[in-house]
Amino acid sequence: MAKAWIRLDGDRCRGTGLCAAMSERHFEMDGSGTGRVVVAEVASEEDLLDVLAIAECCPTESITVTTADAILDEDSAG
Ligand code: SF4
Repeated sequence: MAKAWIRLDGDRCRGTGLCAAMSERHFEMDGSGTGRVVVAEVASEEDLLDVLAIAECCPTESITVTTADAILDEDSAG
């Protein structure tokens, strides 16, 4: 699997907690109620599918997943 990384734009995040609820291994809420990435590098194909699904679910499109080759899910509002 190509290396992949998760990025979360805290300025866009509205603190719904959805990402952390869907995967505590990858996301958590910080002290101010903003989502943040726990571990940026995606470790497996299964995890990649999970974080892509979570990125799709984020209501503010704050989560982006990138590989060395491509942006797999990028916020489009902009
Ligand atoms: S799902 Fe999106 S809006 Fe909700 S906490 Fe996570 S990054 Fe923020």
